[in-house]
Amino acid sequence: MKITPSALLSMSVVLLTLAAVATPARAAEQDESLKRAIAVLESTILVDGHNDLPMAIRQFAKAPGDVAVYDLRQPTEGDTDIARLREGRLGAQFWSVYIPGEGRGPFARPQLEQIELARRIIERYPDTFQFATSVADVSEAKRAGRIASMLGMEGGYGIENSLGALRAYYDLGVRYMALTHNAHTDWADAAAQLPPRHNGLTPFGEEVVREMNRLGMLIDLSHASPATMVATLRISEAPVIFSHSSARGVCDVPRNVPDDILRELPSNGGVVMITFVAGFVNCEVGRIVQPAMAELALRARAAASTEERERIMREGMAAIKTPVTTIGMVADHIEHVRRVAGIDHVGIGGDFDGNPNWPEGLDDVSTYPRLFAELIRRGWTDTELRKLAGENVLRAWEQTEKVAARLRAAREPSTKLFESAPSSAR
Ligand SMILES: [Zn+2]
Repeated sequence: MKITPSALLSMSVVLLTLAAVATPARAAEQDESLKRAIAVLESTILVDGHNDLPMAIRQFAKAPGDVAVYDLRQPTEGDTDIARLREGRLGAQFWSVYIPGEGRGPFARPQLEQIELARRIIERYPDTFQFATSVADVSEAKRAGRIASMLGMEGGYGIENSLGALRAYYDLGVRYMALTHNAHTDWADAAAQLPPRHNGLTPFGEEVVREMNRLGMLIDLSHASPATMVATLRISEAPVIFSHSSARGVCDVPRNVPDDILRELPSNGGVVMITFVAGFVNCEVGRIVQPAMAELALRARAAASTEERERIMREGMAAIKTPVTTIGMVADHIEHVRRVAGIDHVGIGGDFDGNPNWPEGLDDVSTYPRLFAELIRRGWTDTELRKLAGENVLRAWEQTEKVAARLRAAREPSTKLFESAPSSAR
């Protein structure tokens, strides 16, 4: 068919008219979805599994580690401040007390500093934050109109192969520990470091899992290798969490959760808290970011100091250029986990302040309602949205507390020492 200029003109008129009719209707529908999303989030406790604000403050160029200068009452240059947390209707946050695990350490000192820094952030704004170490604390914070603030360790490096140190971190208020970050620990394999060193967990790694069960510390499998996930699911008597991971069935990057692990979650009771990080959500971004990150990790491992390692990772991540990621892509991961593991096993773990690449419109702590609005447009009910928002992870945590009460009554703290097998030399 030949298209004449006048036919083209009349087609354009038709299209323009259609657009004029469609846009306000669509805007109104979006408005309605957003309104309903906000109402749902206000009626429940929105829990985010991972936010790296403590590291953002530790690395704040103008005043590293200064919680007074990094004022959360003002708009910050990062992803998190109080006004935006309120706009996002956040009810509870696991603040990540991340330290890099590359190199030979020391690990306990930076880990303790990060915990102390996070505690100071929480204490600085008593009208906004309430330190929480139990599910009951989270409910109490919600009733008081404050954001429940929990601590989660990212990587088991800080325990320096000591179960006594693990227990001391619990006493400081740490309520989850990711077994690894991007580097293997001496007792558990990470997804991002190849080749694997232990094929999952060593016997000491298994004892770490058992002791976490006894303490009532959630086991976070984000960043762990699939073999570590399998070994942990075999041993753990409590539900596991993935504090910030997406689905490998949608994007085949090593950081995401494989379908065979998702299928184990109904019997374990665990929850995958979906991250918004573009490199794990958008396969195309993943293809660009993954090799770049592996190269950065190699460089970081060779760095002379912890500070130098942190600088290499921060500046390197910020320099990576990537294509656009959408809110819909994040919703695709959520719906995939729901399809494979079930509606009771999916949650939210944004990872704000932990990375510079975000989906458009889902790029800081004010934006959670937009993701829930997208799911409303896809037909999610309020009951389903509440499970995703926080009910699932709070149920998993409550179950973990019950397991701990039973195990503490049944056995003493573990006295097992780290096995110094030659294969575990760094
Ligand atoms: Zn992480």
